[in-house]
Amino acid sequence: MTSWIDSANAPGTPFPVHNLPYGVCSSAVEVKPWCAVALGDTVANLGVLEGWGLINAEADHPVFTGSSLNAFMAAGPAAWRRVRAQLTDLFTGDDPRLRDDTRRHNGSLLTRAAMRTHMPFEVAEYTDFYAGRHHACNVGSMVRGPENALPPNWLHIPIGYNGRASTVVVSGTPVVRPLGQTRPPGAEAPVFGPSRRLDFELELGAVVGVPNRLGRPLTVAEADAMIFGYVLLNDWSARDLQAWEYQPLGPFQAKAFATSISPWVVPAAALEPVRVSTPPREVPLLPYLREPGPMLYDIQLEVDLQPAGGDRATTICRTNYREIYYSAAQQLAHHAVCGCAMRTGDLLGSGTISGPEWHQRGSLLELAWGGTQPLTLETGETRSFLEDGDIVTLTGWAHGDGGRIGFGPCTGQIAPAPAEPAW
Ligand code: MN
Repeated sequence: MTSWIDSANAPGTPFPVHNLPYGVCSSAVEVKPWCAVALGDTVANLGVLEGWGLINAEADHPVFTGSSLNAFMAAGPAAWRRVRAQLTDLFTGDDPRLRDDTRRHNGSLLTRAAMRTHMPFEVAEYTDFYAGRHHACNVGSMVRGPENALPPNWLHIPIGYNGRASTVVVSGTPVVRPLGQTRPPGAEAPVFGPSRRLDFELELGAVVGVPNRLGRPLTVAEADAMIFGYVLLNDWSARDLQAWEYQPLGPFQAKAFATSISPWVVPAAALEPVRVSTPPREVPLLPYLREPGPMLYDIQLEVDLQPAGGDRATTICRTNYREIYYSAAQQLAHHAVCGCAMRTGDLLGSGTISGPEWHQRGSLLELAWGGTQPLTLETGETRSFLEDGDIVTLTGWAHGDGGRIGFGPCTGQIAPAPAEPAW
């Protein structure tokens, strides 16, 4: 399957016609953000295509007239399938109405590099899980020792906490170093100031498309069908704030200052060819968490760190989403099983995706083992935690049927902590 848009057929493009990720863009001419689909080096304005009648979600109202994907997401799986098929036909030329009408190219097709990308959807609520077994074992080993690394519930429950939707930001947004309380090692009383142990977490974000009813649980299969797509997600973490605050209710300020996502939502449909099973279960799960089929995806992931003032980035982590122990569908089913109503635009963080090898660790906490084994970058500098000016970039891609299904980068640069007010 090829496209008449040549750049979509270039080897190595993250956005071939098999991908068709959705986002929200603006340009110097069209400053009000609009819904878009990415194809090679091009983006297409979905609101314009919908207005011309070239795509139609068959909802009772247009779904691409706003500045977020939420209306389209809420239209549900049948609408997602219909629009994806219509876009595929338009861009392969099976439906020639766009290809052959060159007057329409100017009004709907733009150069991706000239676009500004915005938050692709309004985040309703954000939940972060802790479903990476190697990450949980590594962190547990540091805190409790290797023999008690996994908490007793871990192999039975996808552990999570309710995070902040208000601070989910799109790739490229600066991340301001948080202020907060910490207790230095050996000290009795806490101190206040900028976090000194700022970290990233490599995660995948699942985007919930359709809601479920309050009070009604979901099966894993129903949950899987509700997921609109996936983004890369960096769950920035202040480890020193976290260590002091996290008992007994889990992370609070340590995670509330920023969560970055990649700007293009890769549709779940584009990832169908790379579905894989979750890792073998060490103990059987309760029936409500059992998967009826493969629910995870084979997605390669990398983290690059460019130190402040450095002229190049070092790849410090290479891992794969298939290391996650609980799929997003299992996490969503667990989330709803108590009767919790999930909403259009809910975002579920997978948990840090670490693999068994050292270079597969998805956080600096693990890569530098709590600061005891600093990482040496290609520029010769060392890092245990992030410094002001450092740039962290997550990338991800799957090998689909028609080449690479890419995510587009998720990047963030650390900005200095704000000046303290006169308390
Ligand atoms: Mn996390």
